[in-house]
Amino acid sequence: MLSTTSAAYTNGPTTTKSSSTTEHYDIIIGGGGLVGTTLAAALAKNPTLADKRVLLLEGAGEFKGFDASGPYQNRVSAINKNSIELFESIDAWPHIEAARYKPVKQMQVWESNSDALIQFQHDNFASDVACIIENDLILDAVYATVRASASNVKVLNKSRIECVSLPGQTGSVHSQVQLQDGRNFSCELLIGADGANSVVRKQMGVDVFSLNYDRMGLVATLDLQPEEAGDNSVAWQRFLPTGPLALLPLTEQQSSLVWSTTVPHAKQLLSMEPAQFVDALNEAFCRQYPRVELADLALQALNSFFGNSSSQHLRQFPPSVRDVQSGSRAVFPLGFLHASSYVCQGAALVGDAAHRVHPLAGQGVNLGFGDVRHLVETLAAGAYAGFKLGDTQHLTKYDRKCLTKNVPIMLGVHGLHTLYSTEFSPVVLLRSLGLQLTQNLPPIKNFFMRGAMG
Ligand SMILES: Cc1cc2nc3c(=O)[nH]c(=O)nc-3n(C[C@H](O)[C@H](O)[C@H](O)COP(=O)(O)OP(=O)(O)OC[C@H]3O[C@@H](n4cnc5c(N)ncnc54)[C@H](O)[C@@H]3O)c2cc1C
Repeated sequence: MLSTTSAAYTNGPTTTKSSSTTEHYDIIIGGGGLVGTTLAAALAKNPTLADKRVLLLEGAGEFKGFDASGPYQNRVSAINKNSIELFESIDAWPHIEAARYKPVKQMQVWESNSDALIQFQHDNFASDVACIIENDLILDAVYATVRASASNVKVLNKSRIECVSLPGQTGSVHSQVQLQDGRNFSCELLIGADGANSVVRKQMGVDVFSLNYDRMGLVATLDLQPEEAGDNSVAWQRFLPTGPLALLPLTEQQSSLVWSTTVPHAKQLLSMEPAQFVDALNEAFCRQYPRVELADLALQALNSFFGNSSSQHLRQFPPSVRDVQSGSRAVFPLGFLHASSYVCQGAALVGDAAHRVHPLAGQGVNLGFGDVRHLVETLAAGAYAGFKLGDTQHLTKYDRKCLTKNVPIMLGVHGLHTLYSTEFSPVVLLRSLGLQLTQNLPPIKNFFMRGAMG
């Protein structure tokens, strides 16, 4: 039975009732968000791991499901090719395809302090840059996979992990979990998918580098001016001095907003009347900010060197917003977090529990889905070779794969956030030249596009 010794990390008030029985599983996943639930589905679908007993513990109440005929939800994700391949491999993609999603054919990113801009699209639009999918639809699809394939996966809602203890910390060979209501569980491998404030990660004792950006991401569902929207398949992002403003297509006449800005400004935007909010948003997309003349001159020289028309001519403008859906505005704090290692004896981390990144490049949950793929591959290979599930010797392979893939992307996204958080002229000049050079040099542009697309 689990004992709440000093080694165990406790989360929240200790209203714990002691229970004398401990249920044992092969794998326990702590946290049933997008990444934890997808992991449960991927484990259930893997032929080598399908016989493992898996328990998914989610603190929130039961997922209510997704209604594809209802209004669009305010939480959406730009999902890349690798993540779609993962959904295909676990039979979740047909469920999404049959409901609704919007392929992004082109992306335009531009500056507010100079004329620099970049446009991404696949040659001849042969492939989509990304797909915009509502978060609850993804959850619905992976839950359907769990239900359809898995008598060995058990899901418990309203099951908040209060404390955990890991092998080596208590003398037990198993990882142990105690819920806030006192129920106890043990397992060979505990996987922390419990988000940025992960209880599992804290107990693993790994070093964590984290930054609070003092910014919030405001999301909303928007109605566009019908005469300006066209087929609405472009994702738009303008870097403002306060943070990036992004419009992601949902339908021909609706888009989703992610507006990263300072905390007081986000609160102000949240409390505005709808008409006032729509005016502020339309203004933010076209407002003239103080120009860095040297940057504009350098861009003209660069464009004439490449024999291109100026970026002013290339520039397209996003459709104007007509209205904001009632009750769709919400804000989320933004920050950076990275765990120095994603594994230890008896435990592993996936998703935001291991890494959290600014949404400006739409990478956060895609990195988490990458973790899922790597972890399932590693566990399957380890099980086949006769390793125990919680053995660090093979978990380390998962750690290495993820660090190699995730760290450069995370540093790149953090670097972009830092680079675009200043109006200091030399930085504006350098970033404008960097953006425009990338626009003008197809091999570099394709390299970045391949990275973002997965
Ligand atoms: C505004 C915004 C826009 C974004 N846009 C994109 C995008 O376009 N593309 C992209 O790739 N990423 C995007 N992201 C990032 C993405 O949303 C996150 O990376 C993703 O949601 C992380 O999923 P997760 O399952 O790892 O963690 P979470 O979503 O945090 O889920 C953790 C789960 O664990 C549960 N939990 C927590 N603690 C406990 C506990 N003690 N016991 C039991 N359960 C627990 C929670 O209830 C929750 O269900 C965006 C983020 C923001 C804020």
